[in-house]
Amino acid sequence: MAGLTAAAVGVVRGRKMKSYRKELWFEIRGRRGFVNITGQVEDCLRESGIREGLVLVNAMHITASVFINDDESGLHHDYEVWLEKLAPHEPVEQYRHNGYEDNADAHLKRQIMGREVVVAVTGGELDLGTWEQIFYGEFDGNRRKRVLVKIIGE
Ligand code: ZN
Repeated sequence: MAGLTAAAVGVVRGRKMKSYRKELWFEIRGRRGFVNITGQVEDCLRESGIREGLVLVNAMHITASVFINDDESGLHHDYEVWLEKLAPHEPVEQYRHNGYEDNADAHLKRQIMGREVVVAVTGGELDLGTWEQIFYGEFDGNRRKRVLVKIIGE
């Protein structure tokens, strides 16, 4: 099938792209926290039946993040210290956003830690690098929030 794009080859072989969507719910006790969600994303991938494709994982809230890094407690402490230096929670009056809210720092922390990650799916597995794990990052907790998992492929 030389000369055909990968998508065209899929059509020629009669394959159909699959699509999967799921929302994961979190309620973090306290203002901030990190949760390793790699296992939950792997469960979604298994449920989808998709072997080759892409998975998108994104926070559906503007004061929470999804990011990839090492599952190491020292690093998570370092993030906490670093983010508090960049955007300290107190004094809350320092932020224009804080009128009836007090979460301006959480918006800023979310911005730097990112909204989403995209991971390749190869042979039915998340094609992650060495030590890479997927995390939910909460910056304004004590309420229920969602993460979207969208998987496309075949
Ligand atoms: Zn806000």
